[in-house]
This record gives sequence, structure tokens and C-alpha cells, in this order.
Amino acid sequence: MRTVAQKHVIRMHPSIKRSFCKSCNIILISGQTCRIRFRSRSEKHTVVTCLHCGTMKRFMWRQNYNLWLDRPEAWLPNKKATVKS
Ligand SMILES: [Zn+2]
Repeated sequence: MRTVAQKHVIRMHPSIKRSFCKSCNIILISGQTCRIRFRSRSEKHTVVTCLHCGTMKRFMWRQNYNLWLDRPEAWLPNKKATVKS
């Protein structure tokens, strides 16, 4: 999945991207291939640890955080095709 996105230079949706380990590229299944913990030391966040290689992902719980796809600048402006007559 990741190599296909890299080859064609496209972005994966964050929900898909977050379901794979960024180091060993296995599917993260809670309780089987990953461990999910909620921490609140300095800032509340979720830690997803891959049980295969030990790589951790951290997701902050920011209230005003918007994903890149939800931002208006992520979408290309609709350019009308100019047809020369
Ligand atoms: Zn891993």
C-alpha cells in the first residue's frame, strides 16, 4: 500500500496511513500487532506501539487540530480548461 502511494506520488488517507507501521509496514491491529496507550504527561496523546519492531506513533489530542485533507489549501483549485477555438 505504501509503496504504491510512493510510486505514484499520492497521499494516503490518514486513516489508512495510521493503520500501518511506518518502520516495518505491517498492519496495526490493536492487541495483536500493536499496543495502544493513552498518556497525559505534558499533553494528552495516544501512543501506538508496534509489537513487531517497537516503533511508536504519537497522536496528540489537540482540540483545534485539522487534518491536512480537511484544510482548504489541500484541495487544488478548480481550473477551467480553456479551449482554444
Ligand atoms: Zn513495526
